[in-house]
Amino acid sequence: MTSTLPVSTNGNGSASQNAKLSALQSRVSDRIRARLRERDVSFLANDNVADHLLPGELDALQVEVADRVRDLLHSLVIDIENDHNTAETAERVAKMYLHEVFKGRYHQQPKVASFPNVKRLDEIYTVGPITVRSACSHHLVPIMGNCWIGIKPGERVIGLSKFTRVADWVFSRPHIQEEAVMILADEIERLCEPQGLGIIIKAQHYCMKWRGVKEPQTSMVNSVVRGDFRHDPSLKQEFFELVRQQEALLST
Ligand SMILES: [Zn+2]
Repeated sequence: MTSTLPVSTNGNGSASQNAKLSALQSRVSDRIRARLRERDVSFLANDNVADHLLPGELDALQVEVADRVRDLLHSLVIDIENDHNTAETAERVAKMYLHEVFKGRYHQQPKVASFPNVKRLDEIYTVGPITVRSACSHHLVPIMGNCWIGIKPGERVIGLSKFTRVADWVFSRPHIQEEAVMILADEIERLCEPQGLGIIIKAQHYCMKWRGVKEPQTSMVNSVVRGDFRHDPSLKQEFFELVRQQEALLST
């Protein structure tokens, strides 16, 4: 099955050029890209574009991506006609990208209800470890690790499990770790407007474990602190100490 429509010529230029142009324009990814450009919306690897997809387009995109993955397998000289193991790999990979590992690009943010902070809670708390499952933008191979979120509540609060859902949605895109932590911080600030926010990510990058320098133990740790966590060194210290304690629990 292919996602491209029949080709027609309009009398301008050569028939083969027109055929190519027409085939390109008929791809759903081209229609989505044209819309995003027209609306001046960024569509980098770690951006979400769900607001700009029309009904049915995600299904059509899955067919198109499967076509391109099939092309990739052909270019890798894999005999998908005769190899029962890879016969349906293109369809599996397309589904995995659009609905699982990169779902944070194509699907809406999970619904998160926030509530007024009626008791005026202002003690800090941390949530973690939250599993990081992502992929590096450079090689599209996994980034796996843990994340901790520290909050000094502000006007609104959200349920603990919601941090996990939002983090999973943000991580499920191609990323570099330095930007992932900032994007997650932006989303959490938008959802609950905390007085202070801290996030730590500790992750292993398969582009270092599996290929390249092949260092299986190397991990990357990075953090972001905002609001009171940034201005008050003792609060920042308390956040890092709480995370240390939570980490210690992991090894008991
Ligand atoms: Zn990489």
